[in-house]
Amino acid sequence: MIDVAIIGGGPAALSAAINCRRRNKTVKIFARGLDTSMLFTAEKVDNYPGLPDMGGEELLNRFQQHAIQSGVTFQRCRISQILPMGDHFMINAENEFVEARAIILATGIHKSRGIQGEAEAIGKGVSYCATCDGMLYRGKKVVVVGENEEGEAEANFLADICTEVTYVPLYEPVLYLKENVTVMRTKPLAVVTENGVLTGLETKDGVISCDGIFFAKNSMPPDSLIYGLKTEGAQIVTDKRMATNLPFVYAAGDCTGAPYQIAKAVGEGQVAALSAVQDLDAAQREAAKAESVN
Ligand SMILES: Cc1cc2nc3c(=O)[nH]c(=O)nc-3n(C[C@H](O)[C@H](O)[C@H](O)COP(=O)(O)OP(=O)(O)OC[C@H]3O[C@@H](n4cnc5c(N)ncnc54)[C@H](O)[C@@H]3O)c2cc1C
Repeated sequence: MIDVAIIGGGPAALSAAINCRRRNKTVKIFARGLDTSMLFTAEKVDNYPGLPDMGGEELLNRFQQHAIQSGVTFQRCRISQILPMGDHFMINAENEFVEARAIILATGIHKSRGIQGEAEAIGKGVSYCATCDGMLYRGKKVVVVGENEEGEAEANFLADICTEVTYVPLYEPVLYLKENVTVMRTKPLAVVTENGVLTGLETKDGVISCDGIFFAKNSMPPDSLIYGLKTEGAQIVTDKRMATNLPFVYAAGDCTGAPYQIAKAVGEGQVAALSAVQDLDAAQREAAKAESVN
């Protein structure tokens, strides 16, 4: 079990990780790769104190080197679900389950707005994780919409469970799909429901009839990562300690809202880390006290 799991690999995540290590906590960063951070694309950064005139990629590399030197571990993956288990969390890291005592969400801006009807049908036919929800569609028809090749793994997994799997890739090229997966290149427009039951995916080429739709996205709406997380639009709601409405869950960086800046992300990462450490230590003291009484 790790003390703090950090979701995201940008400045907020790296700052949070370095600060957790400074307080001797075990930390793992779960992220899809440095090149998925907003900062990676910045040609020149001129407003980060002490490091003027630096490319975004180089700055990010320096942050990462610092984290590695501090003893932070990394797992390259997309997190699709975090389950609260009482006194810890279970993190679904592409079918590997990792346990952590606290979570820091540093997932950046959520760009994909979703198609019409998608948000309303989450948990009622719309899913973002085949491993988590696939069994609910055993013997049924599903559509998988893939923004990247991770969608192929989802479709291949579902092909062993479902009677029909249609794969809608929104990228090129498609690398590997099982024979019983049908590929349809089209543009998804809306989730179709009848009396609250999902019946299909409307596309620019017509409706694909199905019982469930799985989306493999480049970025996930934060409240679909962890059930019950309070958001306003695409932003995670936090207090001054960067604590969310869920115990032992914190957030930092662009995912908490504007201004979308490195210094803010780094600062919030630090605050989130210190709050997580403080709360973990307090919980440990309480547990020790309760044990000594018994
Ligand atoms: C072109 C450009 C130029 C910029 N120039 C400047 C500048 O000069 N100065 C400045 O201060 N700011 C600048 N910014 C803004 C700055 O890059 C961002 O504010 C900063 O990167 C935010 O850091 P973050 O850690 O919150 O998010 P990000 O850096 O976006 O990192 C988020 C990370 O989380 C990962 N992630 C998301 N969901 C999941 C998941 N489910 N599982 C695993 N990983 C996940 C993403 O893949 C990504 O790696 C610029 C941005 C752009 C695009």
